[in-house]
Amino acid sequence: MKHDVIIIGAGLGGLVCGSILSRAGLDVLVLEREAQPGGCLQSYRRHGLSYDTGFHYVGGLDEGQSLHAAFSYLGLLRLPWHRLDTAFDRIRLQGRDFAFVQGGSRAFADALAEVFPSERDALQRYAALMEEATLRQYDGLNPGKGPEDVLAAAYSDTGAWSYIEDNFRDPLLRQVLGGNALRMELRRESLPLFSFVHCNAGYTESSWRLRGDGSLIVGALCENIRSYGGNVRCRAEVCELIEKDGRIVAVRCNDGEICEARTFISSVHPSITCGWLKESRVVKKVWRRRMAGLENTSGICTVSLRLRPQALEYFNCNHYVYNCPDVWSLPLSEGRVGGVLVSCRLPEDPADRYARQVDLLTPMSWEQCRPWADTVVGHRGEDYLALKGRLADECIALAEQSLPGLGRMVEDCYVSTPLTWRDYTSTPEGSAYGMRKDYRDPLLTFLTPRMPVPNLLLTGQSLLLHGVHGVTMTSLFTCAALLGKDWVWQHIIRNK
Ligand SMILES: Cc1cc2nc3c(=O)[nH]c(=O)nc-3n(C[C@H](O)[C@H](O)[C@H](O)COP(=O)(O)OP(=O)(O)OC[C@H]3O[C@@H](n4cnc5c(N)ncnc54)[C@H](O)[C@@H]3O)c2cc1C
Repeated sequence: MKHDVIIIGAGLGGLVCGSILSRAGLDVLVLEREAQPGGCLQSYRRHGLSYDTGFHYVGGLDEGQSLHAAFSYLGLLRLPWHRLDTAFDRIRLQGRDFAFVQGGSRAFADALAEVFPSERDALQRYAALMEEATLRQYDGLNPGKGPEDVLAAAYSDTGAWSYIEDNFRDPLLRQVLGGNALRMELRRESLPLFSFVHCNAGYTESSWRLRGDGSLIVGALCENIRSYGGNVRCRAEVCELIEKDGRIVAVRCNDGEICEARTFISSVHPSITCGWLKESRVVKKVWRRRMAGLENTSGICTVSLRLRPQALEYFNCNHYVYNCPDVWSLPLSEGRVGGVLVSCRLPEDPADRYARQVDLLTPMSWEQCRPWADTVVGHRGEDYLALKGRLADECIALAEQSLPGLGRMVEDCYVSTPLTWRDYTSTPEGSAYGMRKDYRDPLLTFLTPRMPVPNLLLTGQSLLLHGVHGVTMTSLFTCAALLGKDWVWQHIIRNK
């Protein structure tokens, strides 16, 4: 059977594309390597509780906000979303506490201006930039705009740090503004301003947590695809793209099965996708070298804590806690924990005021995992367990600055590292956010959905932007390459 579209990878990017394309009437097959769909949004169960992996909160879901139209179209607004406190992120840095407030970028700037009054004007300019980033995020899909109007293009060749340094004089405020950026790779030398501003802007509109885990998002998207006649097939690992006369005609799975389609979308890391083209008339060596040479963002170590019953009251915000003075340069290469994101899981029962689960996240480099790169899950030996134990202890000790006594509340603890991510999502080097975008080389590092093969498209976090918001947006751009940007604009964005 020949499908209209085969999508490789049932992570968020693949499933959003699958939902849109099947609803548009195309016959869609999604192929996923793992036993369960979801990629970074997978969850797992231990002793009766479910644990999230790559999802903790999302921004911009209120009516008229940046993710509302897409989530509404995808049926995701029906999920049990729960709004975080007005001070949704609390930053503890250099012994002081700072609050990031939601309610719009102006409210965000006003709250910080109370603490940094001499920086009020600069904060307001920054707020205007965030507002623009959300208002104009779909410029590239607007049939009435040309490429020169696209905001991403205007800011992707400016560095986030150089903007902060040029616009803010107070050294502490420069640090605070990067204080909740553990959910992106904060590097002075490469992070583009557009990535930084866009990643922050949605959360300042409004910030939300799910009552439940990321599998609710995954389940709703799979259900969309199936209800429109498509299929999501797990344990189907693609290992080759078969090209004929300059077009892809089929994929080969590693059990030998061959699946044919007219169009193919890969949400898998672009360098891996490129490797599936064994012999290609159209993908030249220079393009392959370009893909192979692109760097990946660093990974994440997650310490998932199961707490004793009634030990900790649920807190409706995130804490970012640092013991390192420079959030723009965490001591990754030294293997130390310099900052931690502390996220609380909503109790299953809304009447329960106690939390059973807290996640601690800290950036972790691949270098730290390299000694075990050739080992398999469950057989990594004592040294690896000791490394995980040390990281868990350091994360808990740091989190205790905001949650005193946390260590004594812990009943059980599960630690994942970039190795875990590599094994469960196939991301090279267990990178948390896919390929590294670099403002010094935007043409090379900001990939578009188009590949040199005309019927092979890309999607997912290695392209434009990462995160639930960024990947959803990127999927719209991928679908536009197939359905036309007018279609996406009319049916999804303007139809909000
Ligand atoms: C620790 C962590 C915490 C995060 N927290 C948040 C958060 O709170 N909020 C937020 O907005 N974002 C968060 N993110 C980011 C967000 O989860 C990701 O950006 C997003 O889910 C990536 O989706 P994707 O589809 O691009 O990639 P993936 O989820 O990696 O999907 C790719 C899929 O392809 C499959 N695949 C790979 N190889 C093959 C093959 N050969 N054949 C078939 N299938 C294959 C993989 O198994 C996977 O399912 C977090 C990320 C991490 C790492």
